[in-house]
Amino acid sequence: MNYSRRRQKAVDLLTQLKLDALVLCHPENIRYLCGFTGSEGALIVSTEQLVFLTDSRYTTQARSEVVADKIDEYRVKGDGVIAVLTSLAVERIGFEAGLAVGVFNDLRDKGSSGWVWQHLHDEIQSLRLRKSTDEIQLISTAAGLNLAGFTEIRPMLRPGVRETEISLALEFAMRKLGAEEKAFDIIVASGERGAMPHGVASDKLLAEGELVTIDFGCRCAGYHSDETVTLAVGDVSDELRRIYATVLEAHDRALAAVAPGIALSELDRVARDYISACGYAEYFGHGLGHGVGLEVHEGPVVSSRSKAVADAGMVFTVEPGIYVPGVGGVRIEDMVLVTAEGHRVLTKIPKTFQTILLR
Ligand code: ZN
Ligand code: ZN
Repeated sequence: MNYSRRRQKAVDLLTQLKLDALVLCHPENIRYLCGFTGSEGALIVSTEQLVFLTDSRYTTQARSEVVADKIDEYRVKGDGVIAVLTSLAVERIGFEAGLAVGVFNDLRDKGSSGWVWQHLHDEIQSLRLRKSTDEIQLISTAAGLNLAGFTEIRPMLRPGVRETEISLALEFAMRKLGAEEKAFDIIVASGERGAMPHGVASDKLLAEGELVTIDFGCRCAGYHSDETVTLAVGDVSDELRRIYATVLEAHDRALAAVAPGIALSELDRVARDYISACGYAEYFGHGLGHGVGLEVHEGPVVSSRSKAVADAGMVFTVEPGIYVPGVGGVRIEDMVLVTAEGHRVLTKIPKTFQTILLR
């Protein structure tokens, strides 16, 4: 990872925001800028210095991982941050949303009265919006493990198998193949449970004539994959087939439109208009997608409210769905990279209608 390039981006942000220093506490932002993979610490960025602070549990780890000018230990976080800010002789300080209120109160009450604090929202995460070649490689590796893991467990999909058995086998397969962790609690939602967009695997058994939605991903060196497949267990009704075809077409149209310069709200509209035209508007309640990287849900937001515009290097999901209570649901999700020429789909499992053949 090119930490000097990332550091330069943070310094450019300081200039742009007319600040003297940034105080970061969000683990993924800290990891992005200095390589620390632990969960407790603070990173202070000024134009001249990059200082990482953590408590005694993480000092040894930090010394082997962190790329910074200085690594120090604190007993009380606020005191440690104040000492660094004082030594840097800064005045205007940006701090991240998510800094614990207690720590912030400490900084404000015990720090210099001349300090001006500016609350930052998405500015710091925006540093991570455009992925480098290394990052894209890791996301692609994670996506490759999705395909390999799913291919391995595919033969166990049949009527009578428990949703939780599927999620467990899938997690095991991905980790055995090299993933460091699952990306999130795997969703396996079959039959009427498919109408719950976030139905994590339950005790329910797969049954003939149902659809099953499996939403899963893994993590490689901190970077995530996220993908959803929906399959038919034997023959399914015409209605379920129609729902699948509708979601697939909406997904294909939105994916085809991905290119630099298109508003992300427009991608959402492309998928939503098609679903609406087919009569399912009220059954597609969530946004079209989200960015993926060091976090499985990060910027940019892909929804009707999104202000972002697609730019080369962005990686986000396209995941339309239709969820009909009492009937079932379909979601189809891929991760896409915006390239200079258009886009490249990073996830690898085919999304054409697939039937689990009954033996
Ligand atoms: Zn997903
Ligand atoms: Zn997703």
